Amino acid sequence: MRRSESVPQRFHNHPHHRTRLWTVALCAALAGGLAACSGESRPPVTVEAPPDPSFVQEVVEPSALTRHLEAFQDAADANGGNRADATGGYEASAAYVEEQLRAAGYEPRRQEFSYGRRNPVEAFSILADTGSSSDGVLVLGAHLDSVEEGPGINDNGSGVAAVLEVALRLAEEGSVPRERIRFAFWGGEEGGMHGSDYYVEQLSRKETAAHVAYLNVDMVGSPNAAFFVFDGDGSDGMEAGPEGSGAIERVFRDILQAEGVQALPVGFIEDSDYDAFVKAGIPSGGLFTGDAGTKSEAEARTFGGQAGEQYDECYHQACDTIDNVDMAVLEQMTETLMGATVSLGGTENDLAKGAATEEGAG
Ligand SMILES: [Zn+2]
Repeated sequence: MRRSESVPQRFHNHPHHRTRLWTVALCAALAGGLAACSGESRPPVTVEAPPDPSFVQEVVEPSALTRHLEAFQDAADANGGNRADATGGYEASAAYVEEQLRAAGYEPRRQEFSYGRRNPVEAFSILADTGSSSDGVLVLGAHLDSVEEGPGINDNGSGVAAVLEVALRLAEEGSVPRERIRFAFWGGEEGGMHGSDYYVEQLSRKETAAHVAYLNVDMVGSPNAAFFVFDGDGSDGMEAGPEGSGAIERVFRDILQAEGVQALPVGFIEDSDYDAFVKAGIPSGGLFTGDAGTKSEAEARTFGGQAGEQYDECYHQACDTIDNVDMAVLEQMTETLMGATVSLGGTENDLAKGAATEEGAG
């Protein structure tokens, strides 16, 4: 989808009524491209006004993010220094996530799978759902496993903390979004995205078609961060995501822009859990603050930090500890994810009503 000139900027002009900004009717948008629309029809990516940024900032608690990261650091420290699949560190991380979700009223479940031929690794992901008022499913995913070389707190304790915190805060608001929001904590990512791959593979065609979008959160607290959003519409010369991914990109970019952050595009290059969703034709997007890549001069001018150095010098190493995470970056990414979740998941909840608290609204 191309960027639409008709999409209003709502952040400085909060609507009195929660309004649909635009709707991407997938097949309708594919003029002449009906081949891609055969089989089950997919509900459209519907974008509503994001909540007021100041309201989101109030809701997202930095101390809670720190608490989540401490739990993952402790899980690694008590189990040989990592949280890889099928280790005590992974189990302890999983138990923490499940306990947090249960305390918030979710019913988390483990989705088991195995990978590897010679010595199969028995692994699992954790899934937890909100209720919904439609048949659509919006998945927020972050991989829970680390590499064996280190505790994996930026990669990807940061993404897990962000997704978990959105889950906990939405539950606290206590009402039902339009789309079922499914929080996914993937196992098997570092070994080749096996958890997300298994998840998508076991969906029926009908279930696949019910997935309105996938939002990937993998490394969102990089110490020398740049702010990347997946290039859903391919407008930046990269391969576009499935139809509808452009709308997702726009949501993330708009939320960040309202905070003065000019996010950069990053391509879907088969290196994280979005891959299976993209290949299944599910509109996808997500946030990323950089791994072992090198920050450019231009990026340093835009985002600060050190040009010519890695976004995360501790990527996949023992020093990817809690001290490796830029908490301010993680907080901003979590707020951005929260805004996008409300915007894409539907606003029939109290959290989103914060979007319409302009004087006289109601
Ligand atoms: Zn990762």
